[in-house]
Amino acid sequence: MEKKALIEKIKAHVHVLCSEIGERRVGSEENRKATAYTKRVLEESGWKTESTELSVMDWSTDGATLTCGEQSFEVFSSEYSLGCSVQGECIAIRTVEQLEQTNIQDKIVLLIGEIASQQIAPKKFPFWNPTEHQHLIAVLEQGKPKALICATERNAETAGGVYPFPLFEDGDFDIPSVYMKDTEGEKLLPYVGKTVKLVSKARRIPSTAFNVTGKRNTQTKNRIVVTAHIDTKIGTPGAIDNGTGVAIVLAIADLLKSNSSTYPIELMIFNGEDYYAAPGQIRYVAQNAGHFDDILLNINIDGAGYKEGLSCFSPFELPKNIFDLLQEVLLENPNLVEGLPWYQGDHSLFLQNGCPAIAVSSEWFIKNMANQEITHTPKDNIRIVNFEQVAECALGIASLIKKLPRS
Ligand SMILES: [Zn+2]
Repeated sequence: MEKKALIEKIKAHVHVLCSEIGERRVGSEENRKATAYTKRVLEESGWKTESTELSVMDWSTDGATLTCGEQSFEVFSSEYSLGCSVQGECIAIRTVEQLEQTNIQDKIVLLIGEIASQQIAPKKFPFWNPTEHQHLIAVLEQGKPKALICATERNAETAGGVYPFPLFEDGDFDIPSVYMKDTEGEKLLPYVGKTVKLVSKARRIPSTAFNVTGKRNTQTKNRIVVTAHIDTKIGTPGAIDNGTGVAIVLAIADLLKSNSSTYPIELMIFNGEDYYAAPGQIRYVAQNAGHFDDILLNINIDGAGYKEGLSCFSPFELPKNIFDLLQEVLLENPNLVEGLPWYQGDHSLFLQNGCPAIAVSSEWFIKNMANQEITHTPKDNIRIVNFEQVAECALGIASLIKKLPRS
């Protein structure tokens, strides 16, 4: 296929996913439209597909309000939180030590400062879960407050470019919560000790989502698993994160459709990377329990094709022959460079199960992870995509796969 034609196909995929469909939060109709689209495209390229149904929680809100007498404060329902309509004494907590020593029962608790500086890992999130976070959740649950108000600053490292960010984004955590800017939290401080009224019109909605798998044959031994997550956070069309990744998987399906000389290939469209419970990833780990030895290599694409900078392939635990072939691919293509290691993606689940992996992304994002203001926001849209870079990633991956000799 000519490169120009490839770029046009990729553009069409990203357009469908990120402009026509847009936000693809897990459990939404749009998310199911997106997975149905990938299934159709894979089949049109001659791949056998399988959909795995996942039971998930969708969520929506009609807004939130916080008042103290005549005074009102700007708050937002924490994503995936239960709703509430409560009144109670407002107290402020700044540290875990202070929380441990304070009776918060039936209070409305403002978490501000140090305690609210980093997004808390969801209760049941399997791939990243610091013990301090689990401890904080346990202390809050034992304390039985009526609700939480979380005043947060900017923290791109754990919350992407979102400000303020929801301290809790967790459908398994049942204390109702809202969040606000740190500056708004400062305005609330003079009202500590007074009675405040908090209403959050949020609700959880049982729903479904799907993982989609594409295969050429039934062989599983020594397979290469190419992965990209299709879901987005709430409130973003998810172009770089990760419409481009899905488009690359679909392009690879096309580029390799008549290729029979390499290892078996499994194309995986995952659902849940940007969701509190990672349902698609957990299901995949369960489906492959005891059989991760069968996987020769994972290639995970997330964050590829940003308009600035080059594309990067980050190697993890590669055997020498694959590492050498990767270097060959990078030498052949000046748009692709070796990337630094990073772990906030689906390649981590393969690494944790002992599989070598390559993560494909944009160098700019890896270097600016901690201070960029794009991911998980409306700014992550089709206008920040460099489609030529996206095509180069697809060509680089296809070229690497073709170079791998059959054992
Ligand atoms: Zn992502």
